[in-house]
Amino acid sequence: WDRLENRFEAIETIGKGSFGTCILCRRRTTGEQVVVKQIDVDAMTQEEKEDAMKEVHILSMLDHPNIVAYYESFLDEKGLLHIVMEYADGGDLFQRIQIQEQTASFFPEKLIMEWFYQIVRALDHIHRKNILHRDLKTQNIFLTKDNRVKLGDFGIARILNSTQDLAKTVIGTPYYLSPEIVEDKPYHRKSDVWSLGCVLYEMATLKHAFDGQNLPALIMKIVRGKYPPIPSIYSTELRKLVDAMLQKDPMRRPSTTQILRYEAFLSGKRSYA
Ligand code: ADP
Ligand code: MG
Repeated sequence: WDRLENRFEAIETIGKGSFGTCILCRRRTTGEQVVVKQIDVDAMTQEEKEDAMKEVHILSMLDHPNIVAYYESFLDEKGLLHIVMEYADGGDLFQRIQIQEQTASFFPEKLIMEWFYQIVRALDHIHRKNILHRDLKTQNIFLTKDNRVKLGDFGIARILNSTQDLAKTVIGTPYYLSPEIVEDKPYHRKSDVWSLGCVLYEMATLKHAFDGQNLPALIMKIVRGKYPPIPSIYSTELRKLVDAMLQKDPMRRPSTTQILRYEAFLSGKRSYA
């Protein structure tokens, strides 16, 4: 058992989820800013507890410049699980898109491609380790002030293995549900690619690709597979990329490795490198 105050000074609360609170802290020994995600494991069912432990396990397995770095975890005397991780000082992509929407201005294509390239690199890294993110959305993509992307929130990520693979669970925000999940088919890498398509679409239009007043209306749109065109200021390559990822047939969607070879990326890649 340890106590947060012993080693960290809380600065402010930066996020609240159903079980967890994310607190920006300063490490007393070094002064370094970190995020501590506090999860109330006592309030959880056995299954949810296992999910929380899995998040810790998955994070500790990943080491990539575009994935939130994991430092340590501990339990305090109140039964709160603390996950200490790298702080991305530029907020999340959802917040950035909202600001842009309020000022009614689109992101430059170059910036979109720089961000997107880094998101794909992060996803490619986890897919190569047989991990599915399963909750890819703009709120779970964190940014730094110098436009680096850090993929985070592995709360419901799953490790694939031969027996228990392709778990058939409906999870995540309905906006990003893929047609195969709507049809109760298994979740796999290409379902993450669908969500990736939704994220790219949102960066370009500042809107959800699939939206509805209620769940049935949303599901109908997803199953129909049609979405409003992205603004004409963007290149054909960007549009093709969105179309490729948002294909109803998962097998026709590109893998992250294939996406990384796309022509449209070359500009983003060059300035990122
Ligand atoms: P939840 O399971 O509650 O969705 P998240 O890990 O997604 O938990 O964190 C919730 C919010 O807190 C995020 O959307 C983001 O705004 C903020 N946040 C979480 N982790 C970080 C981090 N490492 N750096 C910066 N912001 C973060
Ligand atoms: Mg989240």
